[in-house]
Amino acid sequence: MDQVIPSTMYAWRKHRGNSEPVWEEVPVPHTPPRGVLIKLLASGVCHSDYSLLTNENQRPWFQEKYILGHEGCGRIVQIGKEAKESGFKVGDRVATIAVPGCGESDCPECSRDLPQLCERAHHSGIGEDGFYAPYAALDIRAIVLVPENISSSVAAVATDAVKTSYHAITRRAEVKSHETVFLFGLGGLGFNALQIILHIGARVIISDIRQERLDEAERAGVPKPDIVPAGVSVQEFVRDNSLEGKIDTVLDFVGKNQTFEDAQSIVRRGGKLVCIGTLDETNTIDMKIGIRKRLSIIFTYGGQKRDLQEVLDLISKQAIRPQVDNAVLEEFPMILKLLCDGKIKARVALLHQ
Ligand SMILES: [Zn+2]
Ligand SMILES: [Zn+2]
Repeated sequence: MDQVIPSTMYAWRKHRGNSEPVWEEVPVPHTPPRGVLIKLLASGVCHSDYSLLTNENQRPWFQEKYILGHEGCGRIVQIGKEAKESGFKVGDRVATIAVPGCGESDCPECSRDLPQLCERAHHSGIGEDGFYAPYAALDIRAIVLVPENISSSVAAVATDAVKTSYHAITRRAEVKSHETVFLFGLGGLGFNALQIILHIGARVIISDIRQERLDEAERAGVPKPDIVPAGVSVQEFVRDNSLEGKIDTVLDFVGKNQTFEDAQSIVRRGGKLVCIGTLDETNTIDMKIGIRKRLSIIFTYGGQKRDLQEVLDLISKQAIRPQVDNAVLEEFPMILKLLCDGKIKARVALLHQ
């Protein structure tokens, strides 16, 4: 039974040159032949929405006006002609992949297993239409079925805040159970990262400037001696607690000058420094430290379909419990402001009426 799909809808859009999101009426997208039309149930708000709104120095595919929102969960309302054999059906609840890649063998990125860097395929909410709207059109490559026992808010947040952390930890840092990891930042991504590391079984030492986030981490199972108290120098903490030479990997979900400097100082010889947060636009590498320690400084970006599938499986088994608060779509500007002011403890999903 086909639902009646309206021809227009209200959405939050970015206009080039305007740093405020614009709430306006736009056409409902057509169902792509190789894809689906979904009716959104929840959309996650991400700190990068702020930089998409305020930073005009963007990439070539960015459109003059586009719908923001790159974390979504929705129900399939229509399936394209060429997607009938995909195994998906109308009514399925799916989580979305903002940058699924084109998957073509002649694509320089997709052919090297880097679909998250593909410039050919659609980028939902990142320069092209995304999920702060009632409907979205998606390629079949961009959707993953959501297990019954996961809420739509959690599924939406899993598509970026959990998936990006998972990709960083398992595919880039390749954290193993016998290792010691130092984690900077327990925000939207970092707190999920913490749970993923605990699930792997590695020791994790944590730092955040907000004591309440550290308390939350203690409740999640981090022993007190592995928590750097808010306000204490990280380098001193490592020295005073005989942790020098023991930290295999630093995961920096903050990316400020101070955390990047601390990271180089505290990581063991031959260790890894993984960059996820970018709060300061430039950071300094100490060349002597880098060479003498033979450090690996690794960047990570997004994640892939298999990461999202594994993440949803872990959430379904309750190995990870992403923290999400709910608001409604109309409240996006207010929620983004709270997020930028550090007043959101983890993540907020906007629900669609
Ligand atoms: Zn994001
Ligand atoms: Zn591609």
